[in-house]
Amino acid sequence: MMSRNDAKVFGAEAALTLHERDYDALVAQARERGHRETACFADTGYWPHQDGIELFLRELIPIPALELSESATAVGVSAPFSVQMTERLRTSRTGGLGFIHSHPNGPSRLSPSDETFAREAAADLARFRDRGTFMSLVCSPESRELGGRVFWWESDNGLRSAELGRVRVVGSSRLQLLTGEQNETDFEFLKRQWSLFGDAQRAISQARLCFAGLGSNSHFAIGAAQAGFRRFVLIDPDVVELHNLNRFRGAGVDDVGSPKVDVVRREILRLCPSATVIAIQDRFENAMDDVVRADIVLGGVDNAEARLGLNRVCALTMKPYMDLSGGGEVAEGELQAFGFQVTFYRPGSTGCFICANPHVLRDFVSSTRLEVMEATGYVAGVPESPPQVVTLSLQGCGKALEMLLFYLAGTRAELPVRLLYDALDHSIAQFTVTSDPECGICGEESIEGLGHVGSGDWMDERLDVALPLCEGAAGD
Ligand SMILES: [Zn+2]
Ligand SMILES: [Zn+2]
Repeated sequence: MMSRNDAKVFGAEAALTLHERDYDALVAQARERGHRETACFADTGYWPHQDGIELFLRELIPIPALELSESATAVGVSAPFSVQMTERLRTSRTGGLGFIHSHPNGPSRLSPSDETFAREAAADLARFRDRGTFMSLVCSPESRELGGRVFWWESDNGLRSAELGRVRVVGSSRLQLLTGEQNETDFEFLKRQWSLFGDAQRAISQARLCFAGLGSNSHFAIGAAQAGFRRFVLIDPDVVELHNLNRFRGAGVDDVGSPKVDVVRREILRLCPSATVIAIQDRFENAMDDVVRADIVLGGVDNAEARLGLNRVCALTMKPYMDLSGGGEVAEGELQAFGFQVTFYRPGSTGCFICANPHVLRDFVSSTRLEVMEATGYVAGVPESPPQVVTLSLQGCGKALEMLLFYLAGTRAELPVRLLYDALDHSIAQFTVTSDPECGICGEESIEGLGHVGSGDWMDERLDVALPLCEGAAGD
């Protein structure tokens, strides 16, 4: 079911995802204090996986000046405020607490005494609930780096810890990866585009892309390899069929019957043998360990249920999610509609997939799941699939890849949330979409960054969260 070119591709690790505004606030706070240390707490969601843990910073909790104490060497927090934070962790929705202090002139690493203190604090906190996390981080205002250690405990396995190895800063126009890992830079391969993106080309090579659904998105994935992306998770349950070949990139007649993920992996490795490609022939719901460790999710799934599922998991994990779809509609022998759409949800900054495409949720709940699947032509035995042609795959994937490159490179380009191409009048329209306060995914009672603690099925909660919005939105 699963083929990897390296069994432990990414290694054991702890990763943190945070909003750009919180990252900027941390650095600014550290700078304002000049040569003195400062500190704050954080509320964090988390999602453990087989090789470590993902953390999501939901909210910074400032410490009132009166509760901060300073010795000659380090910052401290008053006992009453510490107790308050312990109580907060005990009753919190997320079960994750963070303590972030600054090292005005030092490295973004815990000192030996910081390490000792963090271990003791984590062991203490683990007594208050049967699962949870504590992270102790250091912010260096000079390098703008974050480093430290993450502790997590489970009723079965006790206390575990790992050094923070990957930090993602999710903004509206840019994803920053603050990470120590380096890939080789492929300078000759990328010679003709290096000057376009400069050093950002390194971020591009480090970003982990998760493709959920590989039909037309085969163009997106292989194009991404040509553009310098080097880390891929490919997920799709299907094999190549003859009727895919009018638009599937990389496959020949010989590949009919082969898993789509294996064909795309082969083509990526033919272009760049050093790339890391995890190929999973399954539904994404069964590959969560790999989905949650990606930096960006690119959705090319073919039904409403799967898209709503990706939207939800990306909200829970604060992960940028780009959805791409296209097709035509013929009625009475006439082409009625022909085009594609790209939706790009950036948690914390923009409306989610549902806010940008409320009709998808309406259609989903106004019919049974089977009816939706039949209507979109993806149930075996249903005679008519929506018409598809390679021109839409080429243009849609081209546009989506361009947006992805700009997002990693941090160009001046304003990135829309929804982009619509209408081939019948050759027009492109773009829309900014803000969160609907009522939205169950990205609204005021947001699930963004809540994570998932591994008890119960995150999928089961999905409709409960999405349905209230639908009732409100059904009238328009
Ligand atoms: Zn320190
Ligand atoms: Zn929303």
